[in-house]
Amino acid sequence: MSHILPTYANFPLTAVRGEGARLWDSDGKCYLDFCAGIATCSIGHCHPKLSDAIAKQAKTLMHCSNLYQIPQQEELAVVLVEEYTAIDGKIFFSNSGAEANDGMIKTARRFGHAHKNSSNEVRYEVITFNRSFHGRTLGSMAATAQSKIQQGFDPMLPGFRYVALNDLDALKAAISEITVGIMLEPIQGEGGVNEVTPDFLKGVAELCEQHDLLLMLDEIQCGLGRTGTTMGWRAIYPDLKPDTISWAKGLGGGFPIGAFFVSDRTIDDQGTSLSSLMDAGSHGSTYGGNPLACAAALAVLNEIKTSDLCTNASLQEQRIRTEVDSWNHKTITGIRGKGLLLGFALNNAKLPCADGSTPALHLCKALMDNGLLTVPAGPDTLRWLPPLNITNDEVDEALRILKNTLDSF
Ligand code: PLP
Repeated sequence: MSHILPTYANFPLTAVRGEGARLWDSDGKCYLDFCAGIATCSIGHCHPKLSDAIAKQAKTLMHCSNLYQIPQQEELAVVLVEEYTAIDGKIFFSNSGAEANDGMIKTARRFGHAHKNSSNEVRYEVITFNRSFHGRTLGSMAATAQSKIQQGFDPMLPGFRYVALNDLDALKAAISEITVGIMLEPIQGEGGVNEVTPDFLKGVAELCEQHDLLLMLDEIQCGLGRTGTTMGWRAIYPDLKPDTISWAKGLGGGFPIGAFFVSDRTIDDQGTSLSSLMDAGSHGSTYGGNPLACAAALAVLNEIKTSDLCTNASLQEQRIRTEVDSWNHKTITGIRGKGLLLGFALNNAKLPCADGSTPALHLCKALMDNGLLTVPAGPDTLRWLPPLNITNDEVDEALRILKNTLDSF
């Protein structure tokens, strides 16, 4: 009998070893891993540069309280701000994506206190979008506009309003006197690999400017090279200047770390910067930004840059799209997403599905039997999130397994 709370409906696979894009189970079976910890193992399993960086730091200093200076944090923040984000700002380090989003939401609340509405009331409501996923803490769950995630946990934390994605009119209508920010994933991951359109993103930026709202991006799944660009939004509307951004997953390449960015932009005539609102005592985390986690993230970000993995992500996207399009397969109606955050839209009518399952889950199980690990995104989308350094041969092998599996249905 297991002593683990049964919160995960997980697969009967026990992973014991990983190397690059390969994962081995306890029976010695080898899989090609296009799940990669759900977009987490961004440079593959146990990349020597990552393993070495962790080992070296683990032998020097693993943990140090944020009461003291942590140079690895400073170094990582420089890379994130100057090389990746390229917008002046500051970083707070957390341990997970949900925590990073909570910090971002707290920043919006601080902003709502600093910039009240015309009736001198605090603004606190953040608009998020249907089918979004922002995490499982009380704050990030309330931001997540999916009833299945919130079910049984009422009452939700107040201060969120949900709108249909890519519907600018609905968004305009939802903005009120208490709205303080608009928060979105440039490409929704869990909700089905749904892309925000460039026009919508541009419209969001304009509305934020017009109504003095924070533009808040959740790049936890789509950021840091995954979409073929340093930032997810750059794959859609590169001119965007977000106020806050959250990351996790691929940042540590498998080592737990999250982060959120707050822009230094001036928010009033006195020269107050947005980032200065999160001042001493406003937020904290015992583990957040410890030397070990920062050393891991530094190794990952350096590898993404030096091996130009953004270019590889774009190249592999094109190879996958070209091949899958050429099949004209009756089970696939289209491909959504960018870079190596790809969703195959499944034709439910053409796919078998066991009782109580979904077509996407059914296909994932069949692929797993055939040696390819993937993950569903909603009931009818199959998601591919391989490591960003996936090779031509590995992509070709995955395509062969996918085609053979689909043909067998
Ligand atoms: N935001 C997005 C877009 C995610 O995909 C996830 C996780 O899937 C989260 C937030 C939550 O991250 P974590 O599981 O690290 O708390």
